[in-house]
Amino acid sequence: MPSSFPQKAVHYTRALARWIKAGRPVRNEAEILHILNTFCLSCESYDPQRSICLHCGCRVNTSPSAATNKLAMGTERCPVGKW
Ligand code: SF4
Repeated sequence: MPSSFPQKAVHYTRALARWIKAGRPVRNEAEILHILNTFCLSCESYDPQRSICLHCGCRVNTSPSAATNKLAMGTERCPVGKW
């Protein structure tokens, strides 16, 4: 679990590189809402104050922008295998 800002920055940079290399695939609005509502909102690793996953440090929200929302980034998966 990334606990420091540098660790989170490295994680994000790697995720971004994977996403760009894969051709920038994105999930649609329905897919994003399904993952957020079904898995993240009830997850013990979800921080509702900051809308982030405490396990990986990524932002998880309803934004369609892959740059600001892990759920929109088609190459990303749940770090503990929930989705
Ligand atoms: S990405 Fe996975 S671990 Fe993180 S809050 Fe969502 S369901 Fe939980």
